Amino acid sequence: MGKVKYYYDSETLSYRKIERKKRTTFKYAVVFLLAAALFAFFFVIIASNFFESPKERQLVRENENLKFQYELLDKRMEDALAALENVEERDNAIYRLYFEANPIPEEQRRAGFGGVNRYKKYEGYDNSKLIAETNKKLDIIEKAIVVQSKSLDEIKILAEDKEQFLEAIPAIQPVNNENLTRMASGYGYRTDPFTKVRKFHYGMDFTAPRGTPIYATGDGIVKRADNSSTGYGKHIRIDHGYGYVSLYAHLYKYNVRVNQRVKRGDLIGFVGSTGRSEAPHLHYEIFKDEERINPINFYYGNLSAKEFNELLEKASLENQSLD
Ligand SMILES: [Zn+2]
Repeated sequence: MGKVKYYYDSETLSYRKIERKKRTTFKYAVVFLLAAALFAFFFVIIASNFFESPKERQLVRENENLKFQYELLDKRMEDALAALENVEERDNAIYRLYFEANPIPEEQRRAGFGGVNRYKKYEGYDNSKLIAETNKKLDIIEKAIVVQSKSLDEIKILAEDKEQFLEAIPAIQPVNNENLTRMASGYGYRTDPFTKVRKFHYGMDFTAPRGTPIYATGDGIVKRADNSSTGYGKHIRIDHGYGYVSLYAHLYKYNVRVNQRVKRGDLIGFVGSTGRSEAPHLHYEIFKDEERINPINFYYGNLSAKEFNELLEKASLENQSLD
């Protein structure tokens, strides 16, 4: 109930009611509402700066969780990088060393991150540093994996090549020589069986009865199987690649043809006494880059250290060769 207000009318000398105009009342109401709305508006603005809404609180929690997970990822990347560094170390110090490849320098494994700031797009946020660092770590890991993978590709090729090399070069004795009694004369100065003059004997002689099997001492291709080389009689030459050739002389019979591919241990012919030979035996030579070298160093495939020493002793005796 509104108050009734009066005023003193001096003309009529009496109190009279003040009649409020309706328009004035309406005006007051509008002003009041506007003021209230304005107050509410500023109140909400100011309050929102000091108090969080439930949705904001949820977002803050979510943000904290993301940051926490990001830090965990960062830590895991550090662990991954440490594991990778261990592989790189072994790669340089063992694998590459073993296959005679140069180690990959640290700069090359970590190259490619200088110059323009590629992490600029992460700047301007609360967690910019964490995000940039994590991305940087992942970039380093990715790059290192690529370099490591290439290194392993290279090693694979070298290993295959080495395996092929080890299969190719002569590595066994050309005849069965289990108790080493067949080694008759070694590489070096020997007495010539015909002239009795001291001269250089460029191979090793293995005594054996006519018809004893002769084996290829490494993988290769038969380059010659003929008797048109002076002194050697019927002989075989096998090209092993890598500059190595083995020669088997004074044969009784061939078991291979020219251009035939042979494996180590394949039967290639039989012992005889053709050419300049005193008695049935195999004269065996090894060429490296067309120079004849001592075959004693090419029997490691089927000799123990003790047997090798025994053979070495026998082969060093300056006796008479069978030629
Ligand atoms: Zn000989």
